[in-house]
Amino acid sequence: MSRGAEVMVAGAGALGLSLALALADAGCRVTVCDPAGEPRASAVAAGMLAPVFEAVFDAGAAGDLDLLLAARNLWPALAARTGIAIDRSGAAAVGSQAWLATVRAGLTRLGLHGADLPREMLGDLAPGLAPGLQGLLVREDWRLEPRPALAALRRAAGEAGVGFRAERVTARGGADILVVATGADQGLAVALPQLGALTPIKGQILRFAEQGAGRLSLRGQGAYAVPAGGGLAVGATMEPGLADIAIDPVALAPLSRAAEWMFPDLVGMTSSASAGVRAATPDGLPMVGFSTTPGVILAVGARRNGWLLAPLVAQIVTACVTGRDPGPYARRLDPGRFARTP
Ligand SMILES: Cc1cc2nc3c(=O)[nH]c(=O)nc-3n(C[C@H](O)[C@H](O)[C@H](O)COP(=O)(O)OP(=O)(O)OC[C@H]3O[C@@H](n4cnc5c(N)ncnc54)[C@H](O)[C@@H]3O)c2cc1C
Repeated sequence: MSRGAEVMVAGAGALGLSLALALADAGCRVTVCDPAGEPRASAVAAGMLAPVFEAVFDAGAAGDLDLLLAARNLWPALAARTGIAIDRSGAAAVGSQAWLATVRAGLTRLGLHGADLPREMLGDLAPGLAPGLQGLLVREDWRLEPRPALAALRRAAGEAGVGFRAERVTARGGADILVVATGADQGLAVALPQLGALTPIKGQILRFAEQGAGRLSLRGQGAYAVPAGGGLAVGATMEPGLADIAIDPVALAPLSRAAEWMFPDLVGMTSSASAGVRAATPDGLPMVGFSTTPGVILAVGARRNGWLLAPLVAQIVTACVTGRDPGPYARRLDPGRFARTP
């Protein structure tokens, strides 16, 4: 394929918008189709760009720290291109001394280390945090606000010449390339059997509008708490196999308890809950690259790191379309890996 290719993108979430912008910047004629006013998973996400704590806390992600860091390293350029604000204050694990010792050991296993936060500084950075909790700071993890970021991506893509249609893609279509960035949706799976490798993971998240959140993203025992739109977002449930977005108070109860343990002022405070569905592959990494169907590229399955991975996914998809070198991570994300013989 070459510059000037006509590309249809199905899906206007973090992945679809990021890759549409990159394709337009590479000279392609791009149209994005999405029937939804707002992409569910990308909009409800916490917005953490967190290679380090994801590698520490998410079983299975430790071996992908290099890839997660590479994705994060692409964010400053994308932020400059789109005007997306990135908060680089860092993230802190907060908890008991004993628990922090396990976090410290996890960091050490990855060849990293955190900085102990003096209690007064922790109180300033995370007002309202329970007095008994200690903190361990890492600077590598950043954060963005998903809804403004989606708006900025869409604006930048539009200005770069990307067209938008409020339509569901149901077939390969007549464009040179179809890029499928449809998240957890299985609507195209009949035509594209590789989408069957995806399983849904429902995620529910709480937002406390009245709780000031300070500047740091916090990782606690059983929940994270991040600044969000002037309040505090506490997440998130991991409910494999569920693809609905109904709010389930039973599933949210442990999250509420973990949040109140971190921030005692939350007891009795009003919160709102929302839910989205992540798409996951068997190895936790997305499928990015040419599918077995000619002319169709997949960009799906980013699990709990879609925002973090978006610029790397965009870079690989653009390289596939334009015939450039897709870089060192493309093979690990190749959709064909699940069909390969060992
Ligand atoms: C509670 C929660 C918290 C999260 N927190 C974080 C976080 O802190 N950091 C992070 O990096 N990630 C986080 N994630 C994960 C992240 O949100 C996802 O990985 C990411 O949003 C996936 O983006 P996407 O573009 O692949 O999918 P989506 O955002 O789901 O977008 C897919 C779009 O495709 C559209 N679509 C579907 N079918 C079709 C079709 N046939 N034709 C056209 N359009 C179609 C849909 O309408 C939708 O708008 C979180 C997820 C949840 C649920």
